[in-house]
Amino acid sequence: CGIIGYVGDADETLSVLLDGLSNLEYRGYDSAGVAVGGDGLRVEKRAGQLDALEAALHDATVSGPVGIAHTRWSTHGPPTDDNAHPHTDERGRVAVVHNGIIENYRELRDELERAGVTFASETDTEVVPHLIARELRGGLAPEAAVRAAADRLDGSYALAVVVAGTDALFAVRHDSPLVLGVGEGESFVASDVPAFLQRTRDVVYLDDDEFVRLDADGWTVTDADGAAVEKEVRTVEWEA
Ligand code: GLU
Repeated sequence: CGIIGYVGDADETLSVLLDGLSNLEYRGYDSAGVAVGGDGLRVEKRAGQLDALEAALHDATVSGPVGIAHTRWSTHGPPTDDNAHPHTDERGRVAVVHNGIIENYRELRDELERAGVTFASETDTEVVPHLIARELRGGLAPEAAVRAAADRLDGSYALAVVVAGTDALFAVRHDSPLVLGVGEGESFVASDVPAFLQRTRDVVYLDDDEFVRLDADGWTVTDADGAAVEKEVRTVEWEA
């Protein structure tokens, strides 16, 4: 339902993500979660309102230069902690948030289960981190692994992905909205502009099947074949 992702100041990641989720609350949701990455990956997710997630994070110092967060509006699997996003692979090295519906998730899940993967949720989304983890184990670099996994998906998706040990965020969309926010020394992806409007008004609207990489050097957008795409940065004038 709602996605916010951030690359920037490690000490601000968690608060940017939680502010982003609260800015997206108007869309409605039944669960919420965050993943903060860098060297490792810390994931917290809860069914219910944002205060349940904030309570779960209360005692922790969670910092890292990259993070993703989600408010879920369930389509596959009831609203439970396990079904909340982010979803991870079995080792907790890949975290994914997703808006939309993976239409061929049943076939993909069967294929992964036959290969020995144990699923932790009932969602359509969870196939994605397992597909990415398999590509990483096969030797692909994170960006290529995310592309290869997305190539397997039918349906609608906006995906944001972080991989432990990688200070970058990867995102891709197909029939589900995704925008990029360009700040100073920081950048954002979101399902909708209000998520990050308090921090930047400079926005890039992604088109279908475009892929974005955010890291400390900034952002790059590529098409489905991996070719660089020139994107226009627009300044949003309206108020949140
Ligand atoms: N289909 C996914 C799920 O049920 C994503 C739902 C959403 O867009 O929030 O978990």
